[in-house]
Amino acid sequence: MGGTFNPIHYGHLVTAQEALSQFNLDKVIFIPTGDPPHKTDEEIASAEHRYLMTVIATASNSKFFVSRIEIDRKGKSYTIDTLRELRKIYTEDVSLYFITGADAILEILTWKDTAEILTLCKFIAATRPGYDLSRLESLKKKILDTEDKIFVMEVPALAISSTDIRARIKQQRPIDYLLPEGVCKFILKNGLYR
Ligand code: NAP
Repeated sequence: MGGTFNPIHYGHLVTAQEALSQFNLDKVIFIPTGDPPHKTDEEIASAEHRYLMTVIATASNSKFFVSRIEIDRKGKSYTIDTLRELRKIYTEDVSLYFITGADAILEILTWKDTAEILTLCKFIAATRPGYDLSRLESLKKKILDTEDKIFVMEVPALAISSTDIRARIKQQRPIDYLLPEGVCKFILKNGLYR
């Protein structure tokens, strides 16, 4: 599961749990993006802080794991490099699904080495309720593959968003119950997003 996780919240956790159940997965590996290739202007907490928040949020679930693969790799975090590394760890008989937000997947044709990415994994695109699916449908047509590569999964809890949480912190509005309590306390303790 890829994401900037800036910060991680219950929408991400419910997405992971739902993917485990709907796709009968063995585990979900959360991979916080180290240096997002497509973001320059947004306020992003340090990679180490985002990694630690992800560890705190997932600690109690025995099927959730967190990888430092993108945090520790130098340079921009390209998904292709991550998938190549994962493919060295997991043999061909293991199916890899890349879980992330639908809006991120819509941009996949602009990502580095898209054609190879599509040979290495399938995608689970998490959407918020009421999401307009037409752009994902046209993306699927553009990919022109006989095998299904992109699965859509609606997640009501994705009404929660990292952008909204950051705005709330700036405006000194409550963030309780939008993300795990341990993550809330970590944000306050470290003065993130003020
Ligand atoms: P983003 O553009 O910040 O997020 C797009 C939307 O998807 C937002 O609404 C976001 O909500 C949601 N989202 C993000 N991660 C999610 C997750 N794991 N589960 C459910 N919803 C999620 O996307 P991003 O986080 O920067 O990137 C997503 C993934 O795509 C990362 O792994 C990133 O490295 C990869 N990516 C790769 C390339 C490349 O290789 N060139 C380029 C772009 C992205 P929140 O804001 O609430 O999270």
